[in-house]
Amino acid sequence: MKPASRAVHAGRELSARSPLAPDLSPASVHVYTDLDDYEAVVRGEREGYYYGRNSNQNRELLERAVADLEGAEAGVATASGMAALHAAILALAPRPTTIVATRELYGGTAALLRQDLESAGYEIVFVDLLDLDAVRQAMASAGLVLAETITNPLCRMPDLTALGTLARERDVPVLVDNTFATPLVFRPLEHGAHVVMHSATKYLGGHSDIVAGIVVGDAGTMAAVRARSARTGTPLGPFDAWLAVRGLRTLDVRIRRHSENSLALAQAMQGMRGVARVHHPLLESSPSYDVARRLLPSGAGGMMAFDLEGGRQAVQTMLDRFRLVRFAASLGGVETTVSYPEITSHRSMSAAERAALGVGPGTVRVSVGIEDASDIVDDFAQALDW
Ligand code: PLP
Repeated sequence: MKPASRAVHAGRELSARSPLAPDLSPASVHVYTDLDDYEAVVRGEREGYYYGRNSNQNRELLERAVADLEGAEAGVATASGMAALHAAILALAPRPTTIVATRELYGGTAALLRQDLESAGYEIVFVDLLDLDAVRQAMASAGLVLAETITNPLCRMPDLTALGTLARERDVPVLVDNTFATPLVFRPLEHGAHVVMHSATKYLGGHSDIVAGIVVGDAGTMAAVRARSARTGTPLGPFDAWLAVRGLRTLDVRIRRHSENSLALAQAMQGMRGVARVHHPLLESSPSYDVARRLLPSGAGGMMAFDLEGGRQAVQTMLDRFRLVRFAASLGGVETTVSYPEITSHRSMSAAERAALGVGPGTVRVSVGIEDASDIVDDFAQALDW
C-alpha cells in the first residue's frame, strides 16, 4: 500500500467482528491465574500484557503504525518528544562520546544536550549541517550525529542523503528528529539514518490535544529504547496513544494541505509590509532550496518563519491585530499559530547564541494550519498593515 493508505490502516489487522476503531485499554495491570503463564509473558515468550509501564495495546498500535510509515522494524512511544529523544540518544550512545548536533535545532533539545548530557561527560559539537565539509570534519571524532529534517525555527534542510552516506562510511549512527517533516513528507531511514524520533505532540497527533513522542528504528536498538523507557518510567499513556493513532489516520490529507498552505503563505509574505525575510525550504531564497526540491517532492509540511522589522514591539502589534491566527508555543495542529522563538522554543539560549543562528528579535515561527489559504494570507496581510 502507498503511504497515504498505510496512514489510514497501519498497525491493525481486522477480522470478522473487529471494532473498526480500536478499543481503548486503560488498564494499568492484567490479572493472571497461572504463574508460569505470567512468567512466559514477562519474558516475551507468549503474547499478552501484564503491567502498563512495560506494554499496552494502544501504545503498541501507535508504535507499529509509525514504524510502518517510517519504514522501520519497530518503535517505542513515550510520554513526550523529549523522552523519545533522550531514550534514543542513550540507546545509540550509552556511554559519554562526542555528539555532533545540528547548530540550528529545537531549544529544548539544545538544553537536554547541554544541561543533561554535557554534564554527564558527553562532548557536544554544534555544526552547520548544511556545510558538508564541516560535517565531514566533525564526523571524524563523532559517536553520534543528531539532525533535524527541517530545522527549528528557520526551516532549513540539510542534505540528509549525503549526510547518511558520510555517516555510514564512517560507521557513525545518525538520529533524525523528523517532527517538522513527518514520514509522509520525508523518511530519513531511506536516506541512511539509523533511528528517527518525533514529537508526536505535533503533526502525528495533529490536533493540539496530546503530549507524546515516538522513536523508530531497527529491532535491536528499539529493544534497548523500550527497556530504558520502562526502567525510567517514560512510556506513553493509553488514551494519548489512542488519540495519536486517531490523528495519524488523517495525516496524509492534513500534511498535503499544511504543505500547500505554508508555501502559499511564504510566497505571499515576501511582499508584505515590514517583512524583512521569509524562511521556507521551498522558497528560491532559501539556502536549502536545491536540497529541498530534490528531497521533498510532495511539499515541505506546514512550517515556515519570517523576520519582522521592528522587533518585539512589531511582533506584539501583529499579535494584537490577528483575527484568525493565534500565538501558541507549539506547532503541527490544524490551526494556524505563530510562536516567538526568543521566549518560546529558543528561550534557553542567550541572545548572542540566537543571533549567531540568525534568530533575532523579529523572528516569528509559523505553524501554518489547514484553514483556507486565502483566509490565512489575508489575516497576516491585515495584521501587518498598520
Ligand atoms: N523536537 C522538535 C522539533 C520540537 O519542536 C519539539 C517540541 O516543540 C520537541 C522535539 C519536543 O517535543 P515534546 O514537546 O513533545 O517533548
